[in-house]
Amino acid sequence: MTLPGSPFLSYRGQELFLEDCSLNELAARHGTPLYVYSQAAMLAALAPYQRGFAGRPHLVCYAMKANSNLAVLQTFARAGCGFDIVSGGELERALAAGADPRKVVFSGVGKTRAEMRRALEAGVLCFNVESEAELEVLSEVAVACGRVAPVSLRVNPDVDANTHPYISTGLKGNKFGIAHERALQAYRRAAELPGLSVAGIDCHIGSQITAPGPYLDALDRVLDLVEAIEAAGIVLHHLDLGGGLGIQYTDEQPPAADALIGQLLARIDARGHGHRTVMMEPGRSLVGNAGVLLTEALYLKPGEAKNFCVVDAAMNDLMRPAMYQAYMRIEPCLRRDEPAASYDVVGPVCESGDWLGRDRELAVRAGDRLAVLSAGAYSMSMASNYNTRGRAAEVMVVGAQAHLVREREAATELFRGEHLLA
Ligand SMILES: *Cc1c(COP(=O)(O)O)cnc(C)c1O
Repeated sequence: MTLPGSPFLSYRGQELFLEDCSLNELAARHGTPLYVYSQAAMLAALAPYQRGFAGRPHLVCYAMKANSNLAVLQTFARAGCGFDIVSGGELERALAAGADPRKVVFSGVGKTRAEMRRALEAGVLCFNVESEAELEVLSEVAVACGRVAPVSLRVNPDVDANTHPYISTGLKGNKFGIAHERALQAYRRAAELPGLSVAGIDCHIGSQITAPGPYLDALDRVLDLVEAIEAAGIVLHHLDLGGGLGIQYTDEQPPAADALIGQLLARIDARGHGHRTVMMEPGRSLVGNAGVLLTEALYLKPGEAKNFCVVDAAMNDLMRPAMYQAYMRIEPCLRRDEPAASYDVVGPVCESGDWLGRDRELAVRAGDRLAVLSAGAYSMSMASNYNTRGRAAEVMVVGAQAHLVREREAATELFRGEHLLA
């Protein structure tokens, strides 16, 4: 069975390699928990997006909340990507990594005035506005600083992405976007506000989507709106179809990005919208299978009902299993020729929800190192300091070279800025 992340992730003999680096050696050198990313895997995940859009006006904006390490951002900036940001903090990160602000789109339901001001000063490409109230505030802020804010309205197409409820965002009951029925009215308002200029339209229906159907349904709904909005005399330059393409964690078979884009562009052309710039905002699909989390088995705890393998990584390092009951494969960094037993792989945090994998067949002894696969997206970027645990170090491999791209957080850094009472 091939590993998610192959061909960049593979066993050579009994030893697991990411590109040309032994993961066991990296764990020995840098300690655990340790995130390791493959630059080649990221670029290989971007390539089908670029192929799919070749010859068309387009922009791929990496949704950086998936993994916002500066070296990851730098990799995508150099490859020509823009960025989808959701906070002022992400804007600063993108700029620090060398992003071109004119390729940055600013999404999110709760932008503050300060964040709007900073993004206007930086000169971002577009604000993806998520409510009518936000339109009013953005216009005010823009007028006050003598600028015009380019806007796109995030419309909620009310389609079911068939994904986990926490990562489904395009249904009526979600907090995201402007309802389809109100969109035309909101565009009319945007067109008359003095601080705004209408640039495009966008949607984002969810994450870990594994079939093209929901995208095509959303596209049709959005194109219906585009036609109604332009009939009202408001010109839209770009169509931003959001992110959301899934990856293989176990046996999912998501469409390839170029095949998906081919279907979307065919629909766009068939409906006479081929002249528009098309944008996408992929996050998970660019980085998810480019990273692993390395952890050391601290203790084996055999039990009557269950065997536990207690490891040094925990839910603060990797939230996805605790938060979404996500399944992520766990493989040894060095395979043993011994019979496997079934373990729940759990961390040291004082919560029963602190597990990384359940009922996993592993041949493991204390001191062995394990790799949690598909940990490039929504993993380190969701890490916390719960239980006063410093966040993991991060390494990016490029061929046989391993670059430390984030240092492990030291305990004293965790309470810097706190004060004892006088
Ligand atoms: C999170 C997010 C994305 C990226 O989603 P993925 O599933 O990681 O591709 C894109 N656009 C917006 C607005 C988002 O919030």
